[in-house]
Amino acid sequence: MPELPEVEVTRLSFADRIAGAVIDRVQMGKPLRWPLGCAPKALVGQQVLAVRRRGKYLLVDLSDGLLLVHLGMSGSVAFGDGLPALGKHDHFEMATSQGTLRLNDPRRFGAVVYASHEGAPAAQKLLGRLGVEPLTDAFNAASFHQALKLRQTAIKQVLLGGEAVVGVGNIYASEALFLAGIRPTTRANRISRPRAALLHGAIRQVLAQAVTKGGSTLRDFSNAQGESGYFQLEAMVYDRAGLPCRVCAAPVKTLKQGQRSTFYCANCQKP
Ligand code: ZN
Repeated sequence: MPELPEVEVTRLSFADRIAGAVIDRVQMGKPLRWPLGCAPKALVGQQVLAVRRRGKYLLVDLSDGLLLVHLGMSGSVAFGDGLPALGKHDHFEMATSQGTLRLNDPRRFGAVVYASHEGAPAAQKLLGRLGVEPLTDAFNAASFHQALKLRQTAIKQVLLGGEAVVGVGNIYASEALFLAGIRPTTRANRISRPRAALLHGAIRQVLAQAVTKGGSTLRDFSNAQGESGYFQLEAMVYDRAGLPCRVCAAPVKTLKQGQRSTFYCANCQKP
């Protein structure tokens, strides 16, 4: 599943190239998770002003409104000239004066949603409850600790919930908790200020590293199709159940939290 770093690298791969483009044509494929929310024709003639990111949403600012693009479980975005013919998993295509933007999404949990402005209900329904952005100055150790003190659920669940901090998905939650030495089942409100500070730093570290790595290894990302663009992560614990911990060599353990697999080292990560 695309997480925040993949979405940010996707953004970086086409934001500059599409800025200023005029939309010539919009074509929809099979239904995505949510409907577009306007007639595709209504977008024609509009100018693309910029592409921003909020959590795992790409925000494509238009001269009149914006598009919120979510990659769902399996989506990827391509932008360029001379893309191959539309395939059966291409469910949104927007031809512009500077290239064609296309969403490929085999499982169709992704979406492209139009909103008249960021405060409109169509946008707020998706963005309204998102927490602070982890890679901005607004995400600081003290306020993160305050947010954790308000929550009695397991820290892994709090991270995935996206209200204390946005965009820390399953892979990076497991990895950040390992780096911080915190057991994923620890109740958020039991985490001390120093440990919250460690976790705060670990979250920024794993996300920033992934963005950097993606940016340097995915030069051809604009032409990526399907899953080819996802990161080959050098994970410390994620998806390594039974393998030796890279720090202490104890076998990495796994458990289910909210139907998602969590990976951790019982030796390195304390409750
Ligand atoms: Zn270990």
